Amino acid sequence: MLDIKWSSFSLRQSLVLSMVLTLLPLLVSAGLGYFILHKTVVGDYQDVAHRQHDLLLPIRRMQLLMLRMEIPLEEYLISGSEAKLRDFHGLRQEVESSWPRIMPLLDGELAALTERSRSDWSSMDGVAADLVAAKESGNREALLQSQGRFDSLQASVHDKLEALSVLIEQDIERDYRDASLGLERSEWVAGIAAGISLLLMVGGITIFYGTILNSVNRLIEGAGRFSEGDRDHKIEIAIPRELHQVAEELNRMIGIIRKSEDRLVEMARHDKLTGLLNRAAWDEVLAEALQRLHRLHESFALVTADIDHFKKINDAYGHDAGDEVLRSVAGVMTESVRLIDKVFRTGGEEFSILLPATDAISARVAAERIRRAVENRVLHAGGNTLRITISLGIAVATRNTDTAKALSKQADIALYKAKTAGRNTVVIYERGIES
Ligand code: GH3
Ligand code: MG
Ligand code: MG
Repeated sequence: MLDIKWSSFSLRQSLVLSMVLTLLPLLVSAGLGYFILHKTVVGDYQDVAHRQHDLLLPIRRMQLLMLRMEIPLEEYLISGSEAKLRDFHGLRQEVESSWPRIMPLLDGELAALTERSRSDWSSMDGVAADLVAAKESGNREALLQSQGRFDSLQASVHDKLEALSVLIEQDIERDYRDASLGLERSEWVAGIAAGISLLLMVGGITIFYGTILNSVNRLIEGAGRFSEGDRDHKIEIAIPRELHQVAEELNRMIGIIRKSEDRLVEMARHDKLTGLLNRAAWDEVLAEALQRLHRLHESFALVTADIDHFKKINDAYGHDAGDEVLRSVAGVMTESVRLIDKVFRTGGEEFSILLPATDAISARVAAERIRRAVENRVLHAGGNTLRITISLGIAVATRNTDTAKALSKQADIALYKAKTAGRNTVVIYERGIES
């Protein structure tokens, strides 16, 4: 069985197949047309022509010869001219030699009729010989007798040959009509075959060029969508193989570009030193949380934390040690919050924490937990062990909270209060706290 793997169908194979589909029906119908025409129509016409030439014409000629041969015979019988006798023999010989040519071409009723004609001819020929002999011997009696027999035999042969000609003509006429009918049928068949060939040609061209064009269009569309920034679109092309490969390479390329774009976006949202989300991410997340609060009434709290006297750590142990402390504090904070909470580094030694679905009491509990965790952690920085503390300000978002800026400001005010209250403490923002 012919096993075609469509998925590996190449451009060249597509073109070859389309050419074959286009040309094969033409070749087949041309070949079949020639065969049918030759076998039926041409053969029949040839048969008709052959019978006219090989049968009808010789029979008509024999009839004519038989009529003509009577004249020199009669002239010989009157004048005794040897020349006329030779003419007679010449014509007689022609008739005689015609029989073997037509006899093998006939059968059945026609053959029987021909046989009878020839038999009459033989008798007529014999009577002619008798006439010549009677003339030579001068036997007038015998001459008169034979002349009468000659005439009646001549008429009999003529009538039989005439009947034979009519039968053959009828035969030829019938076959001619059949051949004409065959020709008409062949013209119909040729017309239908040409129509089918044309349909197949159009079908072949449509299917294959359509497939290729379709694939090329998908490629163009995919490339267009990619250049417009669509990174999720996948170009699907099955055939031809070459375009399938181009599409696969493009898809792979888009995948790589998407990954590196995602990585860049992630990098832009993260702080290099601590690995925490940065200020830009904080602005986004806070704006989102406010939208959810206004639309879905999902409350949240935000905590701003600042390392106490961090400058002193830098001063005492160096900037690198300070960095190490920042990383450690980031770690402690991340460990101390729930999975749904998010910790951000929003300033030099300042952190912000978003606590979704959290009221003032829970926020204070969470902030205290963080504060204690930092206070209790022994840190290692620049070969030194040290402890630090942080101060935390809390602001709880309510339906009255309009902007992120206002909420951040409330947390900053609370943080400031915590600092002024002696640090290492948690303060929650309340109305009038500023004063
Ligand atoms: P307070 O208790 O009032 O917050 O005192 P503080 O010393 O922590 O506050 P201040 O704002 O005076 O100093 C913050 C210091 O943090 C100053 C700055 O050099 C340091 N700092 C900011 N960013 C970094 C950083 O990325 N690495 C290091 N090592 N230090 C930083
Ligand atoms: Mg600070
Ligand atoms: Mg500080």
